[in-house]
Amino acid sequence: MSGPSGRVVGRFAPSPSGRMHLGNLWACLIAWLSVRSAGGSVVLRLEDLDPDRCRREYCDQVMRDLEWLGLDWDGAPVYQSARTELYAAAFAQLERQGLVYPCFCTRAERLAASAPHRSDGVQVYDGRCRRLSAAERVGLAKTRRPAWRVRVPDRKYAFTDLLQGVFQENLERDCGDFILRRSDGVYAYQLAVVVDDAAMGVTQVVRGRDLLDSTPRQNYLQDLLACPRPEYGHVPLLLAADGRRLAKRDRDQELGQLQKQCSAPELVGRLAWLAGLIDRPEGITPRELLPLFAWDKLPREDIRIGPQ
Ligand code: GLU
Repeated sequence: MSGPSGRVVGRFAPSPSGRMHLGNLWACLIAWLSVRSAGGSVVLRLEDLDPDRCRREYCDQVMRDLEWLGLDWDGAPVYQSARTELYAAAFAQLERQGLVYPCFCTRAERLAASAPHRSDGVQVYDGRCRRLSAAERVGLAKTRRPAWRVRVPDRKYAFTDLLQGVFQENLERDCGDFILRRSDGVYAYQLAVVVDDAAMGVTQVVRGRDLLDSTPRQNYLQDLLACPRPEYGHVPLLLAADGRRLAKRDRDQELGQLQKQCSAPELVGRLAWLAGLIDRPEGITPRELLPLFAWDKLPREDIRIGPQ
């Protein structure tokens, strides 16, 4: 999908909370190939809003790692931590629509207030703080700082993913009112991502399938904030040999370790082979892969990777 200028704009949106692992690189490579093979541009956004998890040195490392792999981007990198005013403005806009309310639940209460559990383990908030009276809110505000939630409608949100086909969710039943701002004041991923994708003119979002069910929430916020909807491609996850999702703590699959074992073209070749773009895992650069890229070659199911 292209923007008003007729160009596809994609993005890298890494969370700089550690060194990237093979799964992060896989999603970045596919995002880059999809956009560049269509002659589009790529923006880089460092999702460093969480001060407990993100560090500036990880941001620098992410950029060095993308460059090492041969993935480039256009323009200066954008740091979410420098954009709080934009998120505050969007939050205020939703408040004016009467859709935001304070939630005083502690984490334990939040979990207890989450019923029924969805089969995939996602907690559906039952909206109990929405029903607090003004006096109750004033009383509770004396004892704790609230998080802030947005009211969701009892309505289906559906979109067609480039890889996963039609995905739909009833926001009230399958998700519940979700958090826009944490009790420590940090704006939540769902709000920041919507604000930034719109502000940065992103027309195509390519990311891991673990974020598929965030998309209806993001589509809902896009409607409320009058932001255009990008198109979405959710790529399968790379799983460890025992079927677990790769995480930053899987040191053997983090880039620092992988770099000791193989060159950038070898690593790209391995990912391109997993993506079905080449027949054998042999050395190749991202640029050489451009003519070979097509969405319909990509696998849809998560992939178990053996040890190197
Ligand atoms: N920052 C998120 C992550 O690294 C990705 C967010 C997105 O692509 O929307 O998992």
